[in-house]
Amino acid sequence: MTRREAATRIAASPLLIGAMATAAAPKPWKVLIVVAHPDDEYYFAATTYRIAQELGGTVDQVIITNGEGGYRYSTLAEKIYGVPLTDESTGRSRLPEIRQKETLSAGRIIGIRNHYFLSERDHRFTLDAAEALEDIWNCSRVRETLHDLFAREKYDFVFTILPRESTHGHHQAAALLALETAAKLDPAERPVVLGAEPAADTAAPSFGGLPRFALTRTAHAEPEFTFDRRRTFGMHSALRYEIVVNWVIAEHKSQGMFQNDAGKHGLELFWRFESGPEDAAERTASLARAL
Ligand SMILES: [Zn+2]
Repeated sequence: MTRREAATRIAASPLLIGAMATAAAPKPWKVLIVVAHPDDEYYFAATTYRIAQELGGTVDQVIITNGEGGYRYSTLAEKIYGVPLTDESTGRSRLPEIRQKETLSAGRIIGIRNHYFLSERDHRFTLDAAEALEDIWNCSRVRETLHDLFAREKYDFVFTILPRESTHGHHQAAALLALETAAKLDPAERPVVLGAEPAADTAAPSFGGLPRFALTRTAHAEPEFTFDRRRTFGMHSALRYEIVVNWVIAEHKSQGMFQNDAGKHGLELFWRFESGPEDAAERTASLARAL
């Protein structure tokens, strides 16, 4: 057999061709964002954009509450929507629909495939996760929805907000519900749950977990990986992921305070929770390399 004939035979083998194609194809990551409020996708907006819009991945988003609790800061949006949103009863009744539309618009920018609005109450700011978990939200319904989604879609990763004691209790509660749902699955079926927070520089305080909730224990106290929103690309390297993040902020016009975050955090830091599947470390490292 000549070398040319041998090459032809190898190329004609379907098994071999299949194997080569599999090895060469980048993994299309599948991610579910689980957050409490419309606009919480900000925490991982650049990473989401990179996965969904540039790496061919799929990102869905669960938003547990209506996000009507921030009505006091809606002054700028009153002119846009023609509604006195800072009046409590008007804000609480009109913001749920407005915030859904704003979230869908932001989601189109970063490439979210499906949004799941669970429409629980956003009663007020609190640092206590138990308020939402025990009194305000219908947690059995949230758990059921998450379980069905996890089982049906088999996500590789779940992104949540890092549940520090200093962050909104709703953020802590959303992370806990995601972690509980993942932990109930067979280890081989579990997604890797990551907790994220934006930062201006890499000197973020370490996070080992919330003392009251063992499931929030992280694999390492330091972030597993960091996505730099200031990374440049495009013509003359003139563009930055930060631009996309600022577009996301701008879509949430009813959230006045949030507008002050434009250009504030150049980094998205990701911690990995300990209670993951067996290949959690390798899977996370593989995502970090792809990003
Ligand atoms: Zn929030």
